[in-house]
Amino acid sequence: MNVTAVRVEELDQRITAYDLELVGHDDPPRATGPSFDDSELSIVRSTTMFSRRDLLAASAMGAAMTVSAANAGSFGNPDEPPEGAINAKNPASVTDPGPQDPAIRDQLQSAFSPPPTDVGGMPQIWSSFNTVQRRVQNGGWARQVTQADFAISTTISGVNMRLTAGGIRELHWHQAAEWAYMTYGHCRITVIDATGRPYVADVKEGDIWYFPAGYPHSLQGLGPDGCEFVICFDDGAASEFNTLLVTDWFAHTPPPVLAANFGVSADTFAKTPLNDLWIFQGKVPGDLPAVRKAMTGNAETPPQPFTFSLATSPNLNGTKNGTLQLADSSNFKVSTTIAAVVQTVPPGAMRSMHWHPNADEWQYYIKGKARMGVFNTGPHMLTMDFNPGDIGYVPRNYGHYVQNIGDTDMQFFSVFRTSNFQEFSLSDWLKHSPAEMVAEHLNVDPTMVPRWPGANARIMPE
Ligand code: MN
Ligand code: MN
Repeated sequence: MNVTAVRVEELDQRITAYDLELVGHDDPPRATGPSFDDSELSIVRSTTMFSRRDLLAASAMGAAMTVSAANAGSFGNPDEPPEGAINAKNPASVTDPGPQDPAIRDQLQSAFSPPPTDVGGMPQIWSSFNTVQRRVQNGGWARQVTQADFAISTTISGVNMRLTAGGIRELHWHQAAEWAYMTYGHCRITVIDATGRPYVADVKEGDIWYFPAGYPHSLQGLGPDGCEFVICFDDGAASEFNTLLVTDWFAHTPPPVLAANFGVSADTFAKTPLNDLWIFQGKVPGDLPAVRKAMTGNAETPPQPFTFSLATSPNLNGTKNGTLQLADSSNFKVSTTIAAVVQTVPPGAMRSMHWHPNADEWQYYIKGKARMGVFNTGPHMLTMDFNPGDIGYVPRNYGHYVQNIGDTDMQFFSVFRTSNFQEFSLSDWLKHSPAEMVAEHLNVDPTMVPRWPGANARIMPE
């Protein structure tokens, strides 16, 4: 009996014992101690990748599939000691009789019961706007997750903001470049470039904008119900609560200096606020063409727009399932420090295994339910679940995949601090390696290797 067969047989025994315990068998072979409560049981079931039933189903499909499923079964966790509920012979190893918060636990099932392929020790890759304080003012609100909140996120910080119809994020600028994705409603943005060319545009759901570092700008919600969006700064430490505000500068400059600067009398600024506004309720602005004409005067127009419709960008996924749309400096010229993709994954499909050689990936989950596994040397493997409003982070070159684990479309966008999007597909790399050599690594049939999916199969199945 070879080593693989021994491991499969041992695994099958473990699964048998485990399944017996799961169905509440009266005499589980090795089980003692408390059993799962119903909610724990459902989580462990949902995150356990292979059951005895799966292996039997695989056997019925023929020898080739059996070998594949058996090897997948022996996957377990090649490190000792093995991790995961399926490897815990005493079910009491899995229960959590102490205090816990079921609402949080149920949102993060992979954290409570990781797949047995996980190996602990990777820094947290999960965060969420759902867990941070909203700064609510008249006219809207904002909340943020910076590196101070999310240690791994060194290259990008995230802000989620809502502006009412007429609500204004006051005129300001930053040390970092600002990229943003519209998730709701309508917004008007203004900006001026470094040669004095002004720009104004209206954006809607699925649109993005980009302001280089230092470019001064404003944001204002439009009718009928304002807007919501997610901002990404190209610096993990950047804070929306610490920006250079026009009101602050006016309030902290002597009135005679203001008078000299603007060529007016000092009493012009008698009613200028002494505190900043940050977000405030303004009037819903007029139609775009008239506003553009009035604010532009005789100035030139910037050669490249500061806004882009990511939702209408071409689909770069080569399979029938799902879409991947790109905005980087190849098609959104001004976006020289941020590349972005928005990915829509139908139920039962997954974003295939890949990595990015040139930048970390910061993710925002827009809709649906997702499960991401992230791989690094060690080996380390961490699987986490993501819901709308959650944030994921994958350091550059760490392997990863993202599954849709719900029954509706799952959608998320990813941003990278780079001018151009790059990725390596695991399948495409192996497909274009010597098949015999791949077979010698993985103990698979070499004739199947050249038929594996190529680089454009970004969302599987084909
Ligand atoms: Mn800004
Ligand atoms: Mn990725």
